[in-house]
Order: sequence, then C-alpha cells, then structure tokens
Amino acid sequence: MTGVEYYYNDLWAKAKTQLKEDSSIGKLVYETYFEESNLVFLNEEKAVISVPTNLQKMILTQKLALIAETLSNLIHHPVVCDVRLQHEVVSTPEPVEVLPEQSDDNLLVGYTFDNFIVGPSNKEAHSAALACALTPGNFYTPLFIYGNSGLGKTHLLNAIGNYIKSNDPTKRVFFTSSTDFVTSVVNSIKDNSIEAFKQRMNRLDVLLMDDIQFIAGKEKSHEVFFNIFNELVNNKKQIVLTSDRNPSEIKGLEERLISRFSSGLSVGLDSPEFETSLAILKFRLESQSVDPYLVADDVLAYIATNFSKDVRKLEGALNRLLFYSINFSGSDKIDFKVALNAFKGNSSSSDKNEISVNKIKRVVSDYYGLTKQQLVSNSRTKNIASARHIAMYFCRKFLDLPFIKIGEEFGKRDHSTVINACEKVESYMKSDINYKQAIYELEKLINQT
Ligand code: ADP
Ligand code: MG
Repeated sequence: MTGVEYYYNDLWAKAKTQLKEDSSIGKLVYETYFEESNLVFLNEEKAVISVPTNLQKMILTQKLALIAETLSNLIHHPVVCDVRLQHEVVSTPEPVEVLPEQSDDNLLVGYTFDNFIVGPSNKEAHSAALACALTPGNFYTPLFIYGNSGLGKTHLLNAIGNYIKSNDPTKRVFFTSSTDFVTSVVNSIKDNSIEAFKQRMNRLDVLLMDDIQFIAGKEKSHEVFFNIFNELVNNKKQIVLTSDRNPSEIKGLEERLISRFSSGLSVGLDSPEFETSLAILKFRLESQSVDPYLVADDVLAYIATNFSKDVRKLEGALNRLLFYSINFSGSDKIDFKVALNAFKGNSSSSDKNEISVNKIKRVVSDYYGLTKQQLVSNSRTKNIASARHIAMYFCRKFLDLPFIKIGEEFGKRDHSTVINACEKVESYMKSDINYKQAIYELEKLINQT
C-alpha cells in the first residue's frame, strides 16, 4: 500500500465512524450501503468515493452533502464529493450517464424510504416494508399494510417498489390501485384479452396493490385476482397489499381471499404522535429549503398537536401556514400570532355533516393547504386554479347544482368556465393516476367529515 493509500484509508475510516453515528443515516443503512465504500481520490477541492454497486452509489449520492461536510471537517478545508462505481474509477474517469429503461411499473417515483419519517406510529409497518424490499419473495406474502387515510400506505407501497427497482432494475414490479385493477379486468374481458392480462400479471416478481378494499363486491375481479394471487404465491413472488382496514373487516371480500391474506403478515399504521409529527414538519421545511428559524417552535408544536390525525393534514396545515405568511403577513418570522391568523376559521363547525357548497370548499381547500378565500379568488396560480376546478366538479357531482349557480359560488364565474372545469377534472382523472387517487380521497373526506 502506498503512503497516499494509507492516508486515504485512515481518513475515510475516521469519516465512516462519524457517518455511522449520524442519526440521518442509521445503522441498517450504514451497514448496507456505507460499509464497503472507499476514498479513492482527494485534492484541494474534491474527493471521490467508490462503491461496488449501483444501489450503494445511489444511496451515497443522496447523502453527498453530509459526506462532504464530514470530510471537510476532518481535513479542515471544504471539499465537494463525488461517488463512483469501483469499475468506473478504474476504467473511465467520468461516470457514464445511463438512461433509465422505459418502465411500465406505474411506480410513483417521489415516494421512497429516504423521505419517509419513522416513529412509533409507523415503525412496525416501515420495518416490514423495508425487509420486504430487501428480500422480495423471501418475505411474508402477502405483506398487508392497513391504516386510515393519509398515514403513508401509498408512500410505503411505492417505496418498496422503488427500492426493489433501484436494487435490481430487471425485477418486474407493478403498482396498481385495486380500482384500476378492476377497470383493467373489465376492459380486458370486453376486448377478449383477459388471458393476456393474467399472463402479464403472472409474470411479475412483485405485485403492489393499493387500497384493496375497493375490490370488494366485484366478483369477476375477485376471481381473476385470486388466480393471480395463487400463481404468484406458488412461484415465491412478492405481493404487498394496502387497505384502510384489516382484511377481516373488509365487507364484501370473499372468505377464501381473507384466509389467503391472513397467511401473510399484517401490519398497521397509526396517527403520528407528537414527536413524529414534529419530525415530519421539520423534514418538510428542510426539503422545501425553508430556513428552520423562520417558523417559531411553538408554531410547529401547535400544528403537530392540532393537525396530527394524519400526515396529509399535517402537510396541508404547513403549506397553508407558509402560503399565508408569504402572502398576507408582514413579519419575516412566523410566530404564534401569524399562525393563529392563518388558521382562523379553519375548523368552523357550522358546516359539518351535511354536504354543502361550504363543506366542499372547506374540504378541498384544507386538502390543498389553501384558504377558502383563495379558492374563490381570481388567482390563476396553477394549484389554486386546479383546486378550484375540483371543488366546482364536486358541487356538480354531489349537489347537482346548475352551472350558473356554481359559477356564482366561485367568484362570479361564467357557466362555461364551470363546464370546462368539470370536463378538465374528468379528463385528468382518466390520464393521471395520482390525480384520480386525490379525487377519491377527497370524495371520502367530503362524505365523512
Ligand atoms: P395513504 O395512502 O395512507 O392515504 P399516503 O401514503 O398517500 O397516505 O400519504 C399521504 C401524504 O403524507 C403523502 O404526501 C406522504 O408522502 C406523506 N407521508 C405519510 N407518512 C409519512 C411519513 N412517515 N414521512 C413522511 N411523509 C409521509
Ligand atoms: Mg393511499
């Protein structure tokens, strides 16, 4: 070993000791991804770390800032870092861009384990999901994750898929909501392609099905699903399902399916407790590059206490607060007074139970972290306009109001604007699965709250 190599080894060993202790990495991730890394180059400005596998490269790349900071502290001057694969270091000095293969896995790429905050309320589900992602097919099948809306089921399901794909891009992963599954079954029966559909499903390595409760009562889909389920299980493939409740509590689900589901592992998600809520809020602020000192501690505590029924509400409240403070508050720090103003009138009890225009406005604006005033304002900002279209669509759908009346309710708009809005919502629902999911969730909230 040369002197330089000794120096690199020694320095990197010190850096690793610190990284191992870092709470943002954690023991499992450290041992899986950091242990085998090496420092292979260092000059005045730059350090290069090498790792054996693509997945390790991906994970380390997400932690580059922390790695750079750790190294910089040890050598007492700032360096930027780069991660390369071992063979890239030997053969080509610059990493080659590999274009991702076109995938039809349906996965939502933004949902990963990395941006999932773990606390007592979701610890069990998280650890089961991670274990499943690490050893797909050798884990309990099905893994069944249940919990109320907004607690992270869709997030975890996609995190599993994204993790498996990044680990091994050749794995055939497919994410679908049960509603889309039912639609596919119905359509493929119509055009005589049900066998082809089944074969496609039977070839999967990992089937991720969201909100399985919506398959209830759909007989043909039950049967098709049952066949696919058995085929995948027999071939030691991985199935992960989510639902808003335990398998045995889903009405209209066939016994044989319930008993199949019970042979796997069921894990529940609860509402985040205070500390977890706080951690999620801080993480959100950080990922939106908001100065953490902008929001007073008692304000974050207030949100963590009052909006912690689910994570979606937490995020909505934080967005509302930021939006309000940017647009309506003169002060540059968000203190308790600003927060109270931002949330004033938010929890009015006058429009509970019955569905009304007011209730629709409230649920939609809450969901998107807006105020009711914004919803009916002239603003054409994309997210505000989109929320407004959705609220108009629900007024039509739930209340069957005339277009003219709906127009009046939303800032005196023309009836053709309302017709347009409703058409837009319907067409987006067809083309965008996330959008459709949001609409379903809103419907549920309008019906329930
Ligand atoms: P569900 O499918 O259970 O209704 P989602 O997975 O859609 O809930 O989660 C709702 C929102 O909350 C998403 O934006 C998701 O990223 C976020 N979220 C949920 N749980 C967490 C968590 N533990 N850490 C970070 N974000 C979370
Ligand atoms: Mg969901």
